[in-house]
Amino acid sequence: MTNRAWVTLATNDSYGLGALVVAHSLRRVGSAYPAVVLITPSVTDAMRERLSAVFEVVTVDVLDSQDAAHLALLQRPELGITFTKIHCWNLTQYEKCVFLDADILVVQNCDELFEREELSAAPDVGWPDCFNSGVFVFTPSADTFSRLIKFAQERGSFDGGDQGLLNSFFSDWSSDNNKRLPFLYNVTSAAFYSYLPALKHFGQNLKIIHFIGPAKPWLQHYNFESQSVDAPEHLKGFLQVWWNLFTSQVHNQLDEAMGNLEQP
Ligand code: UDP
Ligand code: MN
Repeated sequence: MTNRAWVTLATNDSYGLGALVVAHSLRRVGSAYPAVVLITPSVTDAMRERLSAVFEVVTVDVLDSQDAAHLALLQRPELGITFTKIHCWNLTQYEKCVFLDADILVVQNCDELFEREELSAAPDVGWPDCFNSGVFVFTPSADTFSRLIKFAQERGSFDGGDQGLLNSFFSDWSSDNNKRLPFLYNVTSAAFYSYLPALKHFGQNLKIIHFIGPAKPWLQHYNFESQSVDAPEHLKGFLQVWWNLFTSQVHNQLDEAMGNLEQP
């Protein structure tokens, strides 16, 4: 079915590296659906070209347009990346989409997510009555997009980012169990520290890993000689999976022109 797509976002080349791994992780698990990446003009041409090998690339540029999103952004400059993310609702050529942050890794086929309704997402470990906005099922709609922009302009976001905004807008999420995805669809790296026995017990069923926080996989130190990543033991396993995919599928295909990214 071509009216369904995975969607991610990269506003710079650094997150572009993450997006490339997202796309290859979807291929590796044999997803039947295509992937779209939203980018902004700050992504270099070289990265754009790499992305276009595995994604449909859609450029969004809230700053140059004189539309409602632009006006809202002038009033709420702190929501810059959030506004870029909610552009995903404009992908109305698709009927159903699943948004994935660029810092995630799909480790098992999750195509069943497309059977879910808007807005389905997994709980956030920091506050489980909120959903984590790194993985969510949504229905593209120009109307929802403009209502989101209006809502953001009037109310802002309680955490300054897309997660606060989306949780306030889709506030029925916490009372509708059908929209609560199992945590396995968005296992955030904080959980690796906080509940190791559960990770050990349920780890085989993991579907999507999400490397939240500032320590992104592509910013870790990787030893190309020993082909291993330097990280605490419990994090190492997942980071190694990310790096194995990066070195086998992405790194060896990067241009000379992108040499500065070869050791991110
Ligand atoms: N993002 C981006 N550029 C940025 C920051 C974020 O493109 O400078 C996108 C990217 O897709 C990223 C998502 O927004 O995965 C959410 O940000 P991040 O994953 O850093 O937040 P966290 O999951 O750590 O809260
Ligand atoms: Mn993230």
